[in-house]
Amino acid sequence: MQDNIREVLAGLPKGVRLVAVSKTKPVEDIRAAYEAGQRVFGENRPREMEAKHTQLPQDIVWHFIGHLQEKNIKYIAPFVALIHSVDSLEALQRIDREAEKCGREIDCLLEFHIAEETTKVGLTYDEAAALLGSDGYAAMRHVRILGVMGMATYTDNREQVRKEFRHLKAIFDRLKAVYFQTEDSFRELSMGMSGDYDIAVEEGATMVRIGSKIFGERIYHA
Ligand SMILES: *Cc1c(COP(=O)(O)O)cnc(C)c1O
Repeated sequence: MQDNIREVLAGLPKGVRLVAVSKTKPVEDIRAAYEAGQRVFGENRPREMEAKHTQLPQDIVWHFIGHLQEKNIKYIAPFVALIHSVDSLEALQRIDREAEKCGREIDCLLEFHIAEETTKVGLTYDEAAALLGSDGYAAMRHVRILGVMGMATYTDNREQVRKEFRHLKAIFDRLKAVYFQTEDSFRELSMGMSGDYDIAVEEGATMVRIGSKIFGERIYHA
């Protein structure tokens, strides 16, 4: 597994950060990756992330990549470094409130729907524009939007995947020009997973989220 990490890292250009997606995997696996030098880990269940956070070294940087229900934000708000999956104004408002309670600012990405599959979640450009132009967003003091995230269609058709990543890059560029031109912190493009991150990197990803290629296939228990 440490070899997998080194192999992935060796293939990433400078400036592209690896989020090692450790969801469902035991703390021993995360510790092994940590010992290989990895510091950024991604989880998609708040209680699981909280439990791992308490058991593992405190310099681990925890990214949340899953759907975040209102009642669960409090479990991760004290320590989460980046939430990749903000898909509504309401969600951002709740994160803002929990961040305020913790006396901190939480960094977020806006998640966009770029895949063909209707099952995948995320904003459209127009929805994001409405969010960013709203009074509610203007009033927030405890969240900061650093960029965008998206998941491509699960398919062998690499041209389609490339087209979807290009679409996300275009959304990023447009948001940057319209809403974040003077904010250097708006610079992150989170795209690419085990099966498609090579394409994502070619299309401008600054962060890739890789799970099974590092930790092996996940087994879900019902
Ligand atoms: C599980 C997950 C990943 C990692 O998927 P792999 O195919 O195992 O690399 C990346 N992003 C999100 C949002 C995920 O839920």
